[in-house]
Amino acid sequence: MNSVEALRTLRLRPKAELHLHLEGSVRPATLVRLARRAGSPLFPDLASVRARRRFDGLPGFLTLYRDVCRLLRGPEDFALVARDLTARLRRERIGYAEVYVSPAIVARLGLDWLEVRDAIEEVFASHERCGGGRIRVLLDAVRQFGPDAAHRVLDLHARHPWPRAVGFGLGGDELALPARDFAPVYRRLPRLGLAPVVHAGEVGGPESLVEALRWLKPRRIAHGIGAASDRVLVRRLALTGVALDVCLTSNDATGAAPLARSPVLALLRAGVTVTLSTDDPGLFGTTLLGEYRKLARLGATPRELAFVARTGFRAALAPPGRHQPSPPAAGPARTRS
Ligand SMILES: [Zn+2]
Repeated sequence: MNSVEALRTLRLRPKAELHLHLEGSVRPATLVRLARRAGSPLFPDLASVRARRRFDGLPGFLTLYRDVCRLLRGPEDFALVARDLTARLRRERIGYAEVYVSPAIVARLGLDWLEVRDAIEEVFASHERCGGGRIRVLLDAVRQFGPDAAHRVLDLHARHPWPRAVGFGLGGDELALPARDFAPVYRRLPRLGLAPVVHAGEVGGPESLVEALRWLKPRRIAHGIGAASDRVLVRRLALTGVALDVCLTSNDATGAAPLARSPVLALLRAGVTVTLSTDDPGLFGTTLLGEYRKLARLGATPRELAFVARTGFRAALAPPGRHQPSPPAAGPARTRS
C-alpha cells in the first residue's frame, strides 16, 4: 500500500481526535454571522476572516481566539459553534473525539456556565444519538487566567458534575505561568474523576515539559513538540507512554514549528506515543485528514500513518468499550450559579 492508498483508507475509516477546542472549531461563515448578531465590526465578511488567519505567532493567534470568544454572547452561540464542530466530526468520520470546553472562558464572558454547558451537551448528545460517534470533554482552564480561575473550574464541576467530562487541562499561553503554580489544582483531579492533561512544549522548550511532567503528571500533553531537542526527555516520554497530541497545521501557523522542521516523525520513530489532531480547525482552516496528509508529506510510511491513527483510540481517556471514569461524588442539588 502506498501513501495515497493509506490516506484513502484513513478517510473512510473511523478516526479519533484528542486535541480539539470548541471555540476554535467555528466555521468562517458562522464567525461572520456571530459578528453580525453581536453588532461587532470584527468579521464583516469571509475575506476578513481569511485576513485574520495571517497572525503573528502564538500571541497573535491568542488575540484572534479572544476576539472569537468575545462574539459568544449566550448559550445559543455556543450551540452554534458546537454544531459546526459536530458537523465536521461527521463529515470526517471521527468516531471518538475529546473536546476542550472552557468554563473559565464562559466565566470571563459573564455567562451562566450551566446554561452554556446544557446547550453544548444537547448538541453533543444529539450527535451521538444520530450515530455521529462519541464525544468526551476535557474541561479547560486557561493558563494565563491563573490558578484561582482553574480552581473555580473544578469547583463548578464538583458542584455540578458533567458526566461527559473525562479530563482537565490547561490551555492558553504556555509561557504565562509555570506549571508548578497549578500543582494544587491538579492534585484535586483524582477525587473528581478527571484525568490530567496539559498544553506544554508548544512554544516552550524541554524545560517547560519537564516542569509539567513533574508537577502535573499529565496522561497526555497537547503539542509537546518542544521535547524533541532533549534526548533524555524523549527517552523518558517513550518509556512512560505519555502521549503527545500533535497538530501540524497549528504549529506551522503559530510558528511553533514550521511544517518542514516539525520533529513529529523523529518523536514517533524514537518510540514516543504520538496522536494527530487539528487543534482549532475553523481558525486554522484544516481537517484531520489534512493533518495526516501533511504527516505523509513529511515522509511517514503507510504503516506509520495507520499506527498514528490507531494510537488516537489507544491514548483516549475513555476508549470505546471501556467505562469512563466514575463521575465525581454527588454535590448538592443542582442550582444555577
Ligand atoms: Zn490546543
